[in-house]
Amino acid sequence: MKKKKKQIAILGSTGSIGTQVLEVINEHSDLFEVDVLTANNNSALLIEQAKKFKPNTVVITNEDKYKEVDVALFDLGIKVFTGAQSLEEVVEGENIDIVLTALVGYSGLKPTIRAIKAKKNIALANKETLVVAGDLITKLCKEYNVQIYPVDSEHSAIFQCLVGEVYNPIEKIYLTASGGPFRGWIKEKLQNIKKEQALKHPNWEMGAKITIDSATLMNKGLEVIEAKWLFDLKPEQIEVVVHPQSIIHSAVQFEDGSIKAQLGIPDMKLPIQYALGFPERLKNTFKRFNFMDYPNLTFEKPDVKTFKNLQLAYDALQKGGNMPCILNAANEIAVAAFLQDKIGFLNMSDLIADCMEKITFVSNPTLEDYIDSDETTRKLANELL
Ligand code: NDP
Ligand code: MG
Repeated sequence: MKKKKKQIAILGSTGSIGTQVLEVINEHSDLFEVDVLTANNNSALLIEQAKKFKPNTVVITNEDKYKEVDVALFDLGIKVFTGAQSLEEVVEGENIDIVLTALVGYSGLKPTIRAIKAKKNIALANKETLVVAGDLITKLCKEYNVQIYPVDSEHSAIFQCLVGEVYNPIEKIYLTASGGPFRGWIKEKLQNIKKEQALKHPNWEMGAKITIDSATLMNKGLEVIEAKWLFDLKPEQIEVVVHPQSIIHSAVQFEDGSIKAQLGIPDMKLPIQYALGFPERLKNTFKRFNFMDYPNLTFEKPDVKTFKNLQLAYDALQKGGNMPCILNAANEIAVAAFLQDKIGFLNMSDLIADCMEKITFVSNPTLEDYIDSDETTRKLANELL
């Protein structure tokens, strides 16, 4: 019997992850079909994608672009919606099997909650959702019996290492980090970095926000928090190891001391494909790794004194409650300000630390508390700027 194709909703289809998800679906059109596509501003690409993949529904969040998209897709019978609220509603569509969240930052939180409540499995790229409200999200997943398939390469690596190990507890995980473009730099040199330099990542091509986060090591900090929630770990069980070649995507150490790692050439299409195809490994033509091309895989300790954001993320995780939510909101404002040349590279950490000190701590936050912490932190961060 022919298998039913998995129906995928892609939130943020016009971004770096979103477009690679569509490449994967295109390669495996016998297995996957697109049900929903969404974009914020990029109407031209959204229209092009919709014409090619023929989803049932698209959302263009920016209301000024609605007319253009609606006119372009009218003849194809594709439903077009606009506004942030629509993003929350479309994930409930009855055909959808997997919601792949590739929005940036806090904007992923509410649609993800709605998707879980509609019992949709989540392929999660949008790590900020787990950073902001990991406690709430993991509880909801248990309540609604929903799976999260990690798309982030490190977490996909750990997830892959855990296959077949259900009864074997994790002793610790090694989360690898490339170290970003400024690995080994001293403070004095970092002071005057411009956004053009920070936007050049050595190993990965990604959206602007995560590229800056990689340069400041905040991305690794967010990933530490993401790992805590995905794999139910204590902060001391998560060790960051700088590995500039980005070949070992992360590793798990079990209670017998044995370490399992997942390796490969850096290419986000692999973790995307694993998340969509799980538990199957789908045949593909991606470039294969050759050990002889990499005779020197190297490892270092992260420099948390210079790159303070990683330490701040560990502090936020240790403190718990709404602290990671505060960290995330302050970071989003800091990164946006850096991208507009309003703040220096190192000042981003100062702004985040200031917000973590000044915003009211809530130890057992509800969704409303998270929403409120996010809002008040953004307000304070903008004032402090
Ligand atoms: P991009 O900036 O490239 O893409 C973001 C997507 O989300 C675009 O489709 C954008 O639409 C849309 N979007 C952005 N903001 C909003 C908003 N407020 N409301 C609605 N839609 C919005 O980001 P990436 O693809 O790089 O990253 C996506 C997520 O995946 C992030 O959480 C990131 O941390 C995570 N991730 C990314 C990796 C990568 O390699 N890129 C690796 C691992 C994780 P538009 O194009 O119209 O602006
Ligand atoms: Mg990652």
